[in-house]
Amino acid sequence: MKYLDEFSDPDLARRLLDQIHQVTEHSWAIMEVCGGQTHSIIRHGIDQLLPDGIEMIHGPGCPVCVTPLEVIDKALAIAARDDVVFCSFGDMLRVPGSAEDLFRIKSRGGDVRLVYSPLDALEIAKQNPDKEVVFFGIGFETTAPANAMTVYQARKLGIRNFSLLVSHVLVPPAVAAIMESPTCRVQGFLAAGHVCSVMGTREYPDLAERYRVPIVVTGFEPLDILEGIRRTVLQLEGGRHELENAYPRAVPAEGNPAAREMLQDVFEPADRAWRGIGTIPQSGWRLAEAYREFDAEHRFDVDGIRTDESAVCRSGEVLQGLIKPHECPAFGLECTPRNPLGATMVSSEGACAAYFQYRRLDLAGAQR
Ligand code: SF4
Repeated sequence: MKYLDEFSDPDLARRLLDQIHQVTEHSWAIMEVCGGQTHSIIRHGIDQLLPDGIEMIHGPGCPVCVTPLEVIDKALAIAARDDVVFCSFGDMLRVPGSAEDLFRIKSRGGDVRLVYSPLDALEIAKQNPDKEVVFFGIGFETTAPANAMTVYQARKLGIRNFSLLVSHVLVPPAVAAIMESPTCRVQGFLAAGHVCSVMGTREYPDLAERYRVPIVVTGFEPLDILEGIRRTVLQLEGGRHELENAYPRAVPAEGNPAAREMLQDVFEPADRAWRGIGTIPQSGWRLAEAYREFDAEHRFDVDGIRTDESAVCRSGEVLQGLIKPHECPAFGLECTPRNPLGATMVSSEGACAAYFQYRRLDLAGAQR
């Protein structure tokens, strides 16, 4: 497949691996921020090909995984209403809330619809003026511009029966929170290329300097990942801590100015709770005052819903890189993709799902 196979070329992969082996003299713990990178690493066995001293820690960059249980419960409360059409991307439908999931509500007759774009939800609102149409707007800086654009359009077109349940989070404050955690073992980061394609790279040099940690903007194909690791190890071995862009084919330093402008207009920074990590100050967005009437939390009065995380699920530790998924006692037993106990097993980008999909047979031999 042109433009994709080039980034899986086995000869080039071997060459990059050789270089990583040659330059590695010490042990290093490197976090890939994004769940898409985690899947690429586990799927292609990249972590198993690295020098023994290099450990890949799987970071919190899976939007479904970090969405707090409390927000899922708010979504369920809204979706259960007779006057609501609740729209979402497919991966959120199976994420368990404290009692059920969106599929269960749909099976009971709730109007829960899978859409491929928030603009689809806006179209549904146009066609159903007697219904309240809500879109579940979760994710990082990558999904936020389309959601911002949809709310902007709703206001411009005067579509008042549309609203957004917002749970947007931002990568740089999470990097800072990880580095400030007393249990942090991370010594270098592969930053998420798609996030930087929107936001640019300007926030990262300060983080690299403040925490004396290399940050390499990295893509998602096997060669992208290997190149990101190679550059990170080179910095670590050389005692450097800088921002590098190893994904220039998709990431200009300034990001996408039009998307950033839209984000700045529609959203404003807010404290956000991260599943398993807790509240990180100014680590997310909420709708700005001018767009507040489109905020589903206020419209449906679900502000007061408070939910504690499951005591069994250890996804919080997984998301902070403190344990690997298979070190959770429920992994592959009580918790499987068919019967997920936590979001990291549900999401296609979740670390637990990646280990279940690509590693469970190896792990079964070694550990169970
Ligand atoms: S295996 Fe399941 S229960 Fe354990 S941390 Fe992962 S999602 Fe949670």
